[in-house]
Amino acid sequence: MTNTSQVVTCKGAVCWKVGEAVKIEEIQIDPPKANEVRLKMLYSSICHTDISTIQGSAGFKFYPLALGHGGVGVVETVGDEVKNLKEGDMVIPTYIGECQECENCISGKSNLCLTYPMRLCGLMLDNTSRMSCRGQRLYHPFSCATWSEYTVIDVNYLVKVDPSMNPTHASFISCGFSTGYGAAWKEAKVESGSSVAVFGLGAVGLGAISGAKMLGATKIIGIDTNEMKREKGEAFGMTHFINPSNSDKSPSELVKELSDGMGVDYSFECSGVGPLLTESVEATKVNFERINFWWVKNHIRPTHHS
Ligand SMILES: [Zn+2]
Ligand SMILES: [Zn+2]
Repeated sequence: MTNTSQVVTCKGAVCWKVGEAVKIEEIQIDPPKANEVRLKMLYSSICHTDISTIQGSAGFKFYPLALGHGGVGVVETVGDEVKNLKEGDMVIPTYIGECQECENCISGKSNLCLTYPMRLCGLMLDNTSRMSCRGQRLYHPFSCATWSEYTVIDVNYLVKVDPSMNPTHASFISCGFSTGYGAAWKEAKVESGSSVAVFGLGAVGLGAISGAKMLGATKIIGIDTNEMKREKGEAFGMTHFINPSNSDKSPSELVKELSDGMGVDYSFECSGVGPLLTESVEATKVNFERINFWWVKNHIRPTHHS
């Protein structure tokens, strides 16, 4: 049974202004339009982009903002023209759609769909929003907001998941985990027998470890200053753990010590800590790409015109 006329009032996290503390507010969620569904959120995850959004460094300029872009929910109401989803289906939001027909979708080289692109204007595809608070329209990061009890999303930005999947785990797939997993699988295309270093063992890093393991990497070195990540990394397939705060040596030197002084075949920087980008490249074996990076770093200087 569908009920497309009711507005739902529920709790949601709202950022009213850049840099201001997030407030839990009573918000209104409109019914879905024709190609949308309204979800009852089960779990939401936190991504660093959410923090950057609150701090104003993520590039969003629209406030008040309903936050969150990762999570898992159950379809509560379906729009009139929705065919492949029904009430009760468990789904995860994705902020890039996939039409399977546009130039990018069929290229095999990119998933940046041109028909259902990443939304950065804080609104739905028809440039309106389904969320409001105290009579004010709420914007949302990407294609929807997930830090609320209910949300509305276009069906082209949803993936149906097996309901037997643990929803607390499914929540990480919409952004963090799949970012790392896809980096190892679709971007780096890690080969069987490879050695891999992963800097930062949050959801992105654990995804990279998992992807590398799936592809047959035999040495997977995880690097994190949080000792509790040792056990987590091992559960996902990490073979060696480095806690750089236990040593005076740089993380890249420590990785080299674990790889016959040579460095690893592949390195993934998953922490977002600036200086670690250089460390992650320094941790790799010397090869053509590495030399390119070294050359760019040492020869390209900003040009000043007077
Ligand atoms: Zn994210
Ligand atoms: Zn497409």
